[in-house]
Amino acid sequence: MLNNLNREIYGIGEVIFNEGDAGDCAYLIEEGIIEIIVTVNGQEQRVNQIGKSELFGEVALIDHQPRTASARALEKTVLITIQRSLVNELLEKTDPIVCHLLMVILDRYRNKRGTSQPQSAAQKLDQAEVTSKRDSIRGEATQKLTMANDIGRALRQDEFEMYYQPICALSSGQVAGYEALIRWRHPRDGLISPLDFLWLAEQTGQIREIGLWTLERSCRDWPVLRKSTNFALPFVSVNMSPSQLTGDSFIEDVKAIVTRYRMPPTELKLELTETVIINKPDVALHLLKQLTELGSTLAIDDFGTGHSSLETLNRYPIGTMKVDRSFTGTMLTSAQSWEIVNSSIKLAHSLGMDVVAEGIETEEVRKKLIELGCNFGQGWLFGRPSELKNITTHQP
Ligand code: C2E
Ligand code: CA
Ligand code: CA
Repeated sequence: MLNNLNREIYGIGEVIFNEGDAGDCAYLIEEGIIEIIVTVNGQEQRVNQIGKSELFGEVALIDHQPRTASARALEKTVLITIQRSLVNELLEKTDPIVCHLLMVILDRYRNKRGTSQPQSAAQKLDQAEVTSKRDSIRGEATQKLTMANDIGRALRQDEFEMYYQPICALSSGQVAGYEALIRWRHPRDGLISPLDFLWLAEQTGQIREIGLWTLERSCRDWPVLRKSTNFALPFVSVNMSPSQLTGDSFIEDVKAIVTRYRMPPTELKLELTETVIINKPDVALHLLKQLTELGSTLAIDDFGTGHSSLETLNRYPIGTMKVDRSFTGTMLTSAQSWEIVNSSIKLAHSLGMDVVAEGIETEEVRKKLIELGCNFGQGWLFGRPSELKNITTHQP
């Protein structure tokens, strides 16, 4: 990054750039004063005078159009140059919606000021590349904006559905509880997987409303779902996203839902991934403690894919570890996966946690997991996620 930042020194009256020049860098004034000049009917007019810490030359830098004004030093001036390559890299990492908004605003600004400049052949070539990049950004931005809008409609028009997948005691196969998994029944595209829309809801903050909806629906369905298990301590496990834990009223909202549906808190498990803890360790600890004070238990989801340390696990009130299916699925063919599953189970038990192995698809894997001392399992072998109306079996 530092390669993109250089210093330039100008003396009194020296030109920094002229109207019509290619705008390939912006400037930050470290010391001195500069003036911005435009030529109207052959006459120079000063439009601005700026000093220390101010930025100029930024518009052409971003939209690749030639300079629409000249800049000249009014006294000895030290400038830090900001090269296009730096801004390009930052823009590449920026959300397409934000990039698109920026371009639209710049276009309007130029049109309003009538500041388009004639371009050289090289500038035109550069412009063609910029236009094609902008088209692709506009495409991505439009797609995201449309989908975010669709998610809002889905919430208002009740297009989401809850599916439930059994979590079984490994040795007996008895259903102990269920994981609630959201689906979107899109009026045009049919059933959409959570992986295809939750990432966007997470970015837009809509996940907070979705999170409350999933909790509410799971609590509402629980009395019916509960009838399909005879387990001594049955539970429904609801996924929580990292952004939910940053909402101000989160605990109050959970309390209100649990009370409204008379949900026994001990039968509600909340699943969170390691990201929640890693991003905001102290806020997370505070909120998670409040949750467990209500009587609910916590499960750490997708264990092994993040960076949880023994210390993290110990510090947080986590009752269940869910071993990620990328390890259970390959534990019979990969020594590394086997080792991760084996040591995760031991670690969880040494901390007094239950262990759920995710993604069990075969009898062989189930048997091996029992040998390793794993208590619970979830996966196609026991049952796929289903709608409530299809879960009717009374367990032994
Ligand atoms: P997850 O929490 O790890 O949920 C388990 C995922 O593994 C589910 O995918 C489930 O259908 C799938 N699965 C279960 N058993 C097997 C198996 O034996 N083999 C294979 N190949 N897959 C299995 P799903 O329902 O598509 O959900 C994907 C992810 O979306 C979830 O992963 C979770 O991170 C997220 N998610 C789903 N529902 C919610 C929700 O209501 N709220 C939040 N915040 N996230 C959710
Ligand atoms: Ca989960
Ligand atoms: Ca998982």
